[in-house]
Amino acid sequence: TLYVEGDLQRSDNSLLSVGVTYAPLLDEHGALKNVIANVRDITNFRQAQELKSTFISIVSHELKTPVALIKGYAGTLRRDDAHWDPSVIQESLAVIEEEADRLTGLIENLLAASKLQAEGMRLTNIGDVDLSMMVRRAIDRFKTQTQTHTLSVTFSPDFPTIQGDEVRLRQVIDNLIGNALKYSPRGGKVSVRGQFDDQQVTVAVSDQGVGLTTDEQERIFERFYRVDDALTRKTQGTGLGLYLARAVVEAHGGQISVQSESGKGSTFTFVLPREQT
Ligand code: ADP
Repeated sequence: TLYVEGDLQRSDNSLLSVGVTYAPLLDEHGALKNVIANVRDITNFRQAQELKSTFISIVSHELKTPVALIKGYAGTLRRDDAHWDPSVIQESLAVIEEEADRLTGLIENLLAASKLQAEGMRLTNIGDVDLSMMVRRAIDRFKTQTQTHTLSVTFSPDFPTIQGDEVRLRQVIDNLIGNALKYSPRGGKVSVRGQFDDQQVTVAVSDQGVGLTTDEQERIFERFYRVDDALTRKTQGTGLGLYLARAVVEAHGGQISVQSESGKGSTFTFVLPREQT
């Protein structure tokens, strides 16, 4: 038998990956009578393979940087022939701690993504969540990490507490604000607004960064998808943040969306019901 793989182009230009096995059918004298071709759609298989290699390249790239930093700083501090100033020791230990936290975050995201694929998003701890407070705390934390951005929070007065999973909603907020900073490298305003009505609350995170084309807007919530440009390549990330954010919001019965213009900035908005039914 002979096995070949290839892509067929459909009339709408999309590709269908096929694997074809050719098996000869011989008569009683051994002469070729016919050939049986077995055509299989292997699109899913190909996609799984691509995902696997993306996974491996992202994981190795993203793991290497923090591990190299931790090793470098720890190795330097350990040198017998050097006597470090206490402030140098403190700063080096702070880097080690930050990078270890980054590794933990990365591992948590990878585990969450693989769990999500296996069993769907499960909300474990539903309780009262004060999104306005959560956003203010996040903004205070992010403020210490940037000098080029102006961060602001505007929530309608009497913004209600909602029912939800606090830990997961915090991840969504951190991811959206973190992205707003990461993808506006020249600084600018990052603002978070909160509004509500009888049924639902809306939170919007806006930046004045690089923005996204319409095609990119359609893909950014996919697992491992990252825009293929110079900025994204030098910015740390796995392409899992928005994938997980969407899963969390949808598990609460809400929706997340993006409005953006390339070069001008983006606004990510999520809407959540006030009560979980
Ligand atoms: P990452 O770990 O790469 O930041 P995300 O899932 O959070 O992953 O985002 C996916 C991709 O969407 C990013 O790699 C980036 O290219 C794009 N993106 C996300 N947020 C923004 C934003 N605020 N402005 C421009 N591009 C963004």
